[in-house]
Amino acid sequence: MNYKQHTFAYQERKVSLIERAKKASKKAMTYRPFNVGCAVLAYSETEQKYKIFVGANLKPAESAVKVCAERVAIMNAVTADYNFIVAIAVYGPPQKDAASGVESPTLHPCDVCRNTLRDLIVNEKILERVVDFDTILLTINSIDDQREEMDMKELFHIHSTSLEVHGLISVDEEKEEYGYLIAPPTEPATLHQWLLRYGYGKF
Ligand SMILES: [Zn+2]
Repeated sequence: MNYKQHTFAYQERKVSLIERAKKASKKAMTYRPFNVGCAVLAYSETEQKYKIFVGANLKPAESAVKVCAERVAIMNAVTADYNFIVAIAVYGPPQKDAASGVESPTLHPCDVCRNTLRDLIVNEKILERVVDFDTILLTINSIDDQREEMDMKELFHIHSTSLEVHGLISVDEEKEEYGYLIAPPTEPATLHQWLLRYGYGKF
């Protein structure tokens, strides 16, 4: 399947993706007012068809482990045999990223989701390639309707998500395999960023 066709399919279904993500956000089960909906455009090799799957976030209590809309939507697609994710649309209120410290105009997938996406891409020896570096991310601010569009490479770059984490791939292998580093090793610029980097940022 060439990616041009996927991109065309995405452009055709972009409005539906946004609508479905927005609708899914209303089903979120969350202890605080933080409703997130996700709609993924998935492709089935066997059926040679595209279909949209949705998910919403689940965190009924502050102490509960969070289940994010993105991972729910991806697994909804995969369990229905639509096992390639062409695009991921996320609809929700923006908030400062607790792990990277980045304040983006729209809500980006959190560090748990980013690491999951990264693992799905680089850990191809044991897992089917469900997402790719070219998988599109469309994020929609549920408060002011601002939008951002990027691919996985850009998402990882913005949040300095290294492929090296968890020892899946070394920095040298990363360079060799992909011709560049997803996250150049930059030093945090401020004390706040240092605290975030080393896990003291959950305040
Ligand atoms: Zn998440």
